[in-house]
Amino acid sequence: MPHWDEHADVVIIGSGIAGLSAAIEARQAGASVIVLEKMKITGGNTRISDGGVAAANNFLQKKNGIKDSLELFYDDIMTAGLNLNHPNLVKIMVARASGAIEWTRNTLKVRYLDRLDRFGGHSVARCLTTINHTGADLIKAASSLLKRWGVDIRTGCLLNQLHTDDQGGVQGVEICYDYQSSGENNPIKKNIRANRAAVLATGGFGNDIHFRMQQNPALDEAVNSTNHQGATAEGLIAALKVKAVPVHLSWIQLGPWGCADEKGYGRGASFASYSVYPNGILVDPGTGQRIVNEWADRRQRSEAIFKTGHKCIGIVDANGAEQSNESLQQCLKRGYVKAFASLTELAAASGMPAGRLEMTVDDYNRTVMGETLDPFGKPLSRGAIPLVKPPFYAIRLWPKVHYTSGGVAINSKTQVINLEKRPIPHLFAAGEVCGGIHGASRLGSCSLTECIVFGRIAGQQAAAGKAHNSD
Ligand SMILES: Cc1cc2nc3c(=O)[nH]c(=O)nc-3n(C[C@H](O)[C@H](O)[C@H](O)COP(=O)(O)OP(=O)(O)OC[C@H]3O[C@@H](n4cnc5c(N)ncnc54)[C@H](O)[C@@H]3O)c2cc1C
Repeated sequence: MPHWDEHADVVIIGSGIAGLSAAIEARQAGASVIVLEKMKITGGNTRISDGGVAAANNFLQKKNGIKDSLELFYDDIMTAGLNLNHPNLVKIMVARASGAIEWTRNTLKVRYLDRLDRFGGHSVARCLTTINHTGADLIKAASSLLKRWGVDIRTGCLLNQLHTDDQGGVQGVEICYDYQSSGENNPIKKNIRANRAAVLATGGFGNDIHFRMQQNPALDEAVNSTNHQGATAEGLIAALKVKAVPVHLSWIQLGPWGCADEKGYGRGASFASYSVYPNGILVDPGTGQRIVNEWADRRQRSEAIFKTGHKCIGIVDANGAEQSNESLQQCLKRGYVKAFASLTELAAASGMPAGRLEMTVDDYNRTVMGETLDPFGKPLSRGAIPLVKPPFYAIRLWPKVHYTSGGVAINSKTQVINLEKRPIPHLFAAGEVCGGIHGASRLGSCSLTECIVFGRIAGQQAAAGKAHNSD
C-alpha cells in the first residue's frame, strides 16, 4: 500500500476537453476533484484545435433548414472507419452529440460562428466552429467554470503509474511533480488516492515517435505532426500496465491538408481544410490532373497523395477562398499559399505539363455544372462550386500525423476494459486516449464532440462510483 500524500474523490489525468468535461460533471455531482496535467499549460491538443464540433440535428442545421439524421451521421462515421468502429460507442456519440453542443452553449457559455462546414466524409454540412475558431474557446470556458467551483487544475504533474489493489482495481495515481523542470533523474514523486475513481483523459500519441513507429514504422521523425508537444503515450502505457485492452493502435490518421512548407499544424492546414478541399481540387503536379474525390475522408485523400510520391497542389479560386480569408492572408504573407492571375501561370510555377491544368479545371467545372459525372465520385451536386474567378490560389500539401484512433477499450459507461474482459474497477477513460470509436479514419470535427460526450459520461460515472474500503 503506497503512502498517500493526498486524497480526492475523483482524480482526472489530462486537461483537454475530455478531462475538463469529466471534471465538471464529477464536481457537479458533488465529488471533490483534482485535475492533473503534465504540461505547463492546460488544454493539450484541444487548445490548439480548430474548435470544430459535429452533430446531426444541431441548432444551426435547424436554423438553416439542413436535413440530417442520426442514422446518416452514424453511417458516415462507420463508412470512414471501415466498420472497424465499435457500433455501441458510435451510437452513443451520435445520439448525444447535439446535446453535447447544447451543454457547451448553456453550461460553458461557449459561442459558435454562424456557419456550418461540410468536411470530407460527411454527407451534409453539420460541423460547427467555436466563435474564435479554436478549441481554446472550450478550454478557457471549462477552466474558468472549474476555477469558480474551486477545482484544482495542476500543471507540471505527470501521471507515472496507476496504483492498483489485489483485485486490479485502481486506488490512486503516482505522479511526478514539476514535470519538464525537475529532470528525469530526480523527479519529485507523490501519490494521490482516488477515493471513488480515476479518469484517464491523456489524449493521443501523435507526437510520440517511438510509440507510433511501434505501430507503423513508416511514421518516423521525418513525418511531421500537427499535435502539441505533449501528445505522447505515457498515460496510455500506464493503463496498458494495469491490463487495459489496446484497440486499433495502428490506425494513425494523417491529415491530407498538411502544408508541406511549414511545421506542425500551422496556418496552411486551416486554409486547405476550410477552403481548398471543400471548394477546390487536389492536383498531382507531375500530371496536372486530379487524384481523388476531394470530399473523401482523410485516409483516402492522404493515401492518394502518398501514392503520387511527391507533394501535391491544392487549388481554389477567389470565390472558394473567401470563407477563410483570415488564414489566406496569413498564408500569403508567409508564402505558404501563392496567388496566380491565371491557371496557366499557376501550372507553370508548379512545374505541371503545359495546358493540362486548364483541361483538368474545364472538366471539373463541367461536372460541377452537371454536364458529366465526376470520375472520382465526388458528389458535386451537393454544393460544389466551379473554379472560375481569379486569382487562383495554390498550396503544396503533404500529410502529417494528426490523430491516433487507437487507445484503451471502454464500454458504454467509459469503464476501461481489461484483458480478462472485465471493467477495471475505479478506472474510466475518455477522449483520444480511447480506441474503438473512429476505427480506420476519423471524420473532421468528430473528436471534440466525442471527447465531450464521453468525458461527461466518465465524470458522472466516476462521481457515482462506490468509495474504496477505507485504509
Ligand atoms: C491542430 C489540431 C486541430 C484539430 N482540430 C480539431 C477540430 O476542429 N475538431 C475536432 O473534433 N478535432 C480536432 N482535432 C483533434 C482534437 O483536438 C483532439 O483529438 C482532442 O482535442 C483530444 O482531446 P483530449 O481531451 O482527449 O486530449 P487533449 O486535448 O490532447 O488533452 C490531453 C491532455 O493530457 C495531458 N497528458 C498526457 N499524458 C499525460 C500524463 N501522463 N500525465 C498528465 N497529463 C498527461 C496532455 O498534456 C494533454 O494536455 C485537432 C487536433 C489538432 C492537433
